[in-house]
Amino acid sequence: MGILDEDVAAVRAASDIVGVISQYVQLRKVGQRWQGLCPFHSEKTPSFSVNAGEGLYYCFGCHASGDVITFVREIEHLGFADAVEWLAPKAGITLRYSDRDEGEGRKRRTKLVDIMAKAVAWYHERLLSAPDAGAARKYLRDRGFDGGVVREFQIGWAPDSWDALCKALRLGEKDARDTGLGRVNSRGRLQDHFRARVLFPIYDAEVRPVSFGGRILPGTEAPGNQGKYKNTTETPLYNKSRVLYGLERAKAAIVNSGTAVICEGYTDVIGFHRSGVPLAVATCGTALTDDHVALLNRFAARRLVLAFDADGAGQAAAARFYRWEREHDLEVAVADLPPGLDPADVARTDPERLAKAVDGAVPFLRFRLDRAFAAADLSTNEGRARGAERALEVIAEHPADLVRDQYVMDVASRCRIEPDRLRAQLAAIRSRRGGRSGGGSGGRSDRPDARAGRRVDGIGPRRRPGGDETAPPHPASSGERSVPNQPGGDDGTDGRNVNGSGRAGREGPAHEVLRHAVHNPGEVGRWLDVALFDDPIHAGAYEALLDAETHAEALASSPPAVADLLARLIVEEPTSEPFDAVRRLLTEVARREIGTLRLVGASVDDPGRALADLAVLNRVIDGLRDQAAAVESAERLLAWLEERVGDGG
Ligand code: ZN
Repeated sequence: MGILDEDVAAVRAASDIVGVISQYVQLRKVGQRWQGLCPFHSEKTPSFSVNAGEGLYYCFGCHASGDVITFVREIEHLGFADAVEWLAPKAGITLRYSDRDEGEGRKRRTKLVDIMAKAVAWYHERLLSAPDAGAARKYLRDRGFDGGVVREFQIGWAPDSWDALCKALRLGEKDARDTGLGRVNSRGRLQDHFRARVLFPIYDAEVRPVSFGGRILPGTEAPGNQGKYKNTTETPLYNKSRVLYGLERAKAAIVNSGTAVICEGYTDVIGFHRSGVPLAVATCGTALTDDHVALLNRFAARRLVLAFDADGAGQAAAARFYRWEREHDLEVAVADLPPGLDPADVARTDPERLAKAVDGAVPFLRFRLDRAFAAADLSTNEGRARGAERALEVIAEHPADLVRDQYVMDVASRCRIEPDRLRAQLAAIRSRRGGRSGGGSGGRSDRPDARAGRRVDGIGPRRRPGGDETAPPHPASSGERSVPNQPGGDDGTDGRNVNGSGRAGREGPAHEVLRHAVHNPGEVGRWLDVALFDDPIHAGAYEALLDAETHAEALASSPPAVADLLARLIVEEPTSEPFDAVRRLLTEVARREIGTLRLVGASVDDPGRALADLAVLNRVIDGLRDQAAAVESAERLLAWLEERVGDGG
């Protein structure tokens, strides 16, 4: 069933895990590892690590871990086979299947994408050279789109004909329907979907053409025409709530800057790209959806800048924006565009203004307030009172007490009203609307903890990697945010973003020694014994490393808690010299044994023996401190432990 195992292994081996992850996460090399902000949970300091040599990643915050295939599954929400198929062409591997049907499904998709690519080329060629495309070329030229732009964005022209495309590409009924390029009409004839429209090809994030947005030429709107814009209907390739125009071009810049610019129109996106702001995307005939925001979040967008008149969207949109801010830990801002102008207009007349519009973007609530005040006459008493009323209505939409209160004080000073009067009125508005009226909660709703575990349409920010139904739930799905950063123990760890939550075993000398067991087994192997590890997770990891030939095998054969520790050790690096780590662990073991002896000392049958043991252990501890005597003392302790085990305890 499915892809041949050897091909899966080949894809895993041939894929560059750092290259793949870098498409979503900005990675920085730290020692032997790569480090970045985790794409699977919200965080401000990097706890996501990649070990390129082993081909594995691990997050210290949410414990997401795996290999390059796991990563693609989780970040792209794909099944196993789909993830392998996603990676295979990039790794230059042609997959073979044990089951013919699976191969067929994949072939079908590839065929549909091929047809779409041919349609893009055909429409584009029509725009460039067909006599009937003259009006379209003029329209584009008038908008400032010269031949270079038309070619770069592969803009096309669908002629005013019933079936020119279907005939030219010799499309069958099924292919026409599954690509959305054509359909059978009521007379039983195959007919093109687009007719007499300028076409903007739309690609998915992997740069596969999946649909078109079609714009009618101004002045040719006939009655019965379906409006200015017409898009491809939903097809096996295209789901409009999950595709963003321009994302395939913008994604690298979005990852690097953390900002995505959201436009309303295709020409606005092109305007931004041409003006040197390659961050712009547009929805395709729909409002921005939760899926879109989740998609942008995958590309590490922390700030969404709306480059359209967001005020028109009103209160319902505001509620959505604030929810996204909380759930995705991002900021929704509004670009500072000249009033009444689209980005496409600005790109033509004053391209540099667009970068400024993004830099000068203001938080959504600030934007709404400024609008409310702009409509008020603040020079009269009545005007200030009315302005304050409008402002409070807008402020009341914001879910966070502390944020609301900041704006209340702004209103107080601008309208010369006592803040407490405004607060009382704000509370009244909120209780009228059924919102919580705040008061004394200290702004807790601002806190990430307060929203842990909340999901909206199954795509919350803390969506489990691979949160589709087919994937097993991740063992650490709750409380990722609240994991404290713990300073390192006396093993010399520097406390960098590691946590001692206990899931992956306790930090300390044993942990550091296990790092060496993973990275320098030859240096520490002779000093190790399972009896040294009193934490069962540490002991399990040690035994798994002993038994398995490779780290991947050790991971696969271990229970979840041990596998989690191993995944983490693989992306960590030892922070001390191997033998120093061993000395610290042995010292800890010796101290532990002394503690045990003291506890039972009074009851042992042979008090002389107990005293002798105490003497040995104390000498070992002294010896381990001393460079010259350390090796001998370590050997002494190991021999003592073995003897004691031989005695039956
Ligand atoms: Zn994480």
